[in-house]
Amino acid sequence: MFVPNLDPVDRDREFNNCTQEQRDTIVYNFLFVKGVSNRKIDEQILGLDSDLSKGWQSMGVLHHLGIKNPHKGIFIGFSIDHAINVMSQQNLTHFKTVIDSISRYQKSCIISQVFDSWELFDNNIALKTIDKSTFAHSGTGVPFGVRDFFEIGHLGKREKKELNLFYDDSAFFAYVQMDTLDTPRSRLFWKADFRDLLMEEMPSYYDLFINGSKVEESKLPKIRFTKVNGTRFNIDFVYPIEIEEDIVEEIDGDEGLALTEVDPESRREGKVRYIYGKQYERDQKNRVEAIKYHGTKCTICQFDFEKVYGLRGKGFIEIHHLNPLSSVGKETDINPKTDLVPVCSNCHKMIHRRKDNVLSIEQMKMLIKK
Ligand SMILES: [Zn+2]
Ligand SMILES: [Zn+2]
Repeated sequence: MFVPNLDPVDRDREFNNCTQEQRDTIVYNFLFVKGVSNRKIDEQILGLDSDLSKGWQSMGVLHHLGIKNPHKGIFIGFSIDHAINVMSQQNLTHFKTVIDSISRYQKSCIISQVFDSWELFDNNIALKTIDKSTFAHSGTGVPFGVRDFFEIGHLGKREKKELNLFYDDSAFFAYVQMDTLDTPRSRLFWKADFRDLLMEEMPSYYDLFINGSKVEESKLPKIRFTKVNGTRFNIDFVYPIEIEEDIVEEIDGDEGLALTEVDPESRREGKVRYIYGKQYERDQKNRVEAIKYHGTKCTICQFDFEKVYGLRGKGFIEIHHLNPLSSVGKETDINPKTDLVPVCSNCHKMIHRRKDNVLSIEQMKMLIKK
């Protein structure tokens, strides 16, 4: 692919009116997001009334950077890493501002990029939402944007690359193969042993697909791939429904919810959902995002509930806020990638054991080492 040269303008009023974070978000959206427009960016990212701003605010930022119409949506369907590679190879110096901007964006937010049923974080964590073909064909398509993750960009027609998937201490053989089309598509295949593992892990979903029932995609289990190197990927699973149920159970805990504002009587009556309303739902969403990114093992001691408790522990983990809400302010400001960490119940209790001396993750790790 070829990226047209940047064509910067001197006018910098709009540019200076935005924070660096806002500029990075504008750049990312303009280059990577389908159906985007300057008006939409003004409205959804800058919170402006687009009837008044007419999209000029974001356009001013983009034009100052030299990003114009020919660049619009140029990286739709590509990963951020791919875009950085392309621009670096074409002309690193010329595209430096844009490269810096999107890599900052990638680092600072939870940002995952979605490609069909895949979701990609930082190009080293990928989640595949299960579907019928996961069970029926022992494999799944690998969209273009996810190819870099599996490091298969160099493969041609019919070629394949072997991989090892690790779950706990077991290795599962798999491979990615290109098909025979002129613009070949890539598919990931695994063997019966991995399919059996999936069926064992999520039996009810297997039945569900066989019966053709519909479940909202965001609620379906996800296979989480963590890249160790180009041929080795660790596997674990994310279960959104179970995570949501856990929050309901944990609602009396110390995290995330302003319990003091709630009348204890009504809480006991089980009006929880009603009372917490939007904040509760956002907490759910943040938690699912945190687990998608960090996984379900304890960050401090690596405890894995499923490993010890079997089915009963499947998908369970507590979530610790690194910056308690009282100091962060709005719940919307929480970044699940940098502000939330999964911890086991023991470690969590120890972190908070002394209210006047809440320990950091590093301090906890040191404690355990001794
Ligand atoms: Zn722990
Ligand atoms: Zn905590």
